[in-house]
Amino acid sequence: MSTIRRTALVVGAGPGGSTAAYYLAKHGVDVLFVDKETWPRDKICGGVYVPALYPMLKEMGAYDEMIKYQACEITEFRLIDRHEDYVDMRTAPAMIATRRFTDDWIRRAAIKEGADFMENFEATSLIMRKGVVKGVHGLYHNQPMDIEADVTVIANGSHSELTRQLGLFPDDPDLTMYCFRAYVDGVEGLAPHMAEEYYVPMGLNGWSPICTTWLNPHYGGKQAVLGLTITEKALRETGLSSMEFYEYWKNNTKFGQERLAHATLIDKFRGWRLPGSRKLGKGVVPGAIAIGDSIGAAETAFEYGIPSAMTGGKIAADVIAECDKKDDFDFSELSKYQPLAEQALNPSLGFNAMFRDELLNKEEVMKDFFRYVKAQPGYPEIMFGDTAAKYMMEVLHLDLGGNASNQ
Ligand SMILES: Cc1cc2nc3c(=O)[nH]c(=O)nc-3n(C[C@H](O)[C@H](O)[C@H](O)COP(=O)(O)OP(=O)(O)OC[C@H]3O[C@@H](n4cnc5c(N)ncnc54)[C@H](O)[C@@H]3O)c2cc1C
Repeated sequence: MSTIRRTALVVGAGPGGSTAAYYLAKHGVDVLFVDKETWPRDKICGGVYVPALYPMLKEMGAYDEMIKYQACEITEFRLIDRHEDYVDMRTAPAMIATRRFTDDWIRRAAIKEGADFMENFEATSLIMRKGVVKGVHGLYHNQPMDIEADVTVIANGSHSELTRQLGLFPDDPDLTMYCFRAYVDGVEGLAPHMAEEYYVPMGLNGWSPICTTWLNPHYGGKQAVLGLTITEKALRETGLSSMEFYEYWKNNTKFGQERLAHATLIDKFRGWRLPGSRKLGKGVVPGAIAIGDSIGAAETAFEYGIPSAMTGGKIAADVIAECDKKDDFDFSELSKYQPLAEQALNPSLGFNAMFRDELLNKEEVMKDFFRYVKAQPGYPEIMFGDTAAKYMMEVLHLDLGGNASNQ
């Protein structure tokens, strides 16, 4: 069996791993990043990139490509409740792009910056010595191979066996969403710059936890990314398959009937586990930092996880670069990651969780929120994030405690 030795190893070349590799290379750290897939690869996702990511994407040189090939820019947002009442609001402009391409641009930016990359390497377990992560055992083109490293960044997404091995894997059925995605053609009535999010009346024990369908327009709105999201808890209660959920929405709701009357699915629904958090979970253990979906760092109200993954990747790289300068990868040094990442990520994770728990999941509150939104001066030319924050403080008397929307 062959063994490779590097200073830093990054497992996973999604947005989190590739961002970590990019900044590690930029800091001059000897880094290898690996992925089990042959690239470019698809990732099931709505493909929304919030503007908070633009500075990083620009620095990497990926932004110009993304803008050139983006499927759409979203500037408006329609929220539809279970009774099919709705409100429209503005959001900070966010781009929608296909992950097959965007993830590849970020990966290529890391390679251009000097990171070494190996595809078709599947990490199977962690190399542990005296309780310290020392790299991974894996399979390279199905042949056993070890990669040893002073520090390992675990960024292999929401099915990670590696964070499971460390006890960091998130498993809360109320915060774990099962998200299904398909591309559709022939959509009717979808405005070209408006994303729509529908809360579906699935009637679970009188009131459902989050069950949503969403449409993100592509190429002028005739095409769209269609998504279904349901929590693991709700999925267990209903026993619904993604097709049943889709058929229910398409045939039994006004918007489903209108939007999809003449629509065809371009591809099949494909599902993916997406664990979310109310606040960032523990990501540091001796010898390793885990980021992104591997520790369930996605936001819980709108399923955004790219910001947590990329921001976590950058902070991990900055901390590891300092360790490299001092040639000290001790747990105490790596632990500097945790408070920095919490400071950067907890405001939007917290805001999303409050919005979900206190508003989206409470029928009467959501109705009242709609009344409030429609009564705002200037409606519908008002910002979603600001208006939601104002409602939560003024009407629900919630202490936002520094939490803030990134939309
Ligand atoms: C339907 C759906 C819609 C979503 N919509 C949005 C959205 O619009 N905007 C948004 O911000 N977020 C969205 N998300 C969330 C977002 O997709 C994730 O949060 C984000 O991809 C997390 O990035 P990551 O780098 O942590 O993991 P990933 O993107 O999952 O990347 C992990 C990488 O690790 C590799 N890998 C896995 N196991 C191994 C292994 N053992 N060895 C080596 N490599 C391995 C995989 O091949 C993959 O390339 C959505 C998610 C879903 C499911």
